Amino acid sequence: MILALELNNALLQEMITYVDQHVPLEACGLLAGKESRVEKIVGVLNQAQSPVRFVMDPYEQLHAFNWIESNGLDLVGIFHSHPTGPETVSATDIAEAAYAVVHVILSRSDNEWKARGFWIEDGSAHEVTLQIIE
Ligand SMILES: [Zn+2]
Repeated sequence: MILALELNNALLQEMITYVDQHVPLEACGLLAGKESRVEKIVGVLNQAQSPVRFVMDPYEQLHAFNWIESNGLDLVGIFHSHPTGPETVSATDIAEAAYAVVHVILSRSDNEWKARGFWIEDGSAHEVTLQIIE
C-alpha cells in the first residue's frame, strides 16, 4: 500500500479531458509510471458502455499493458470516472478491484471534476493522497 501518488497538473488535465469526452458514460484507463509517480495516462475503452460501471475492454487493456512494458514503465494506477458521483470508490469498485494499485476516481458535480485516490485491498479502501505538482 502506498500513501501518496504524484502526478503533474498536465496529466491530471489530460485525464479530466479524457473522461469528460465520454460523459454520460464512465470512462477508464491505466496510469503508467515509476513507483508512486504517474508519467503517462493510457485510456482504455469501457466495454460496458455504461454510466454507472466500467469493464476494461480486454484487447485494449492488453495493448495498454504491452505499451507500458515496452516503454519501461510500470502500472501504478487505474482511473475511472463517476460522471454523476460519488467521489469515492463504490462497493462494486472494491469487489471488482483486480490490481493492487491506486484507483483514481474522477467524479463530476456541477460540471466540475474532482480526483481522489484510493488503495483497495482485502475488500476495503483507504484514501491515497494525490499530490499534484506543476
Ligand atoms: Zn466506480
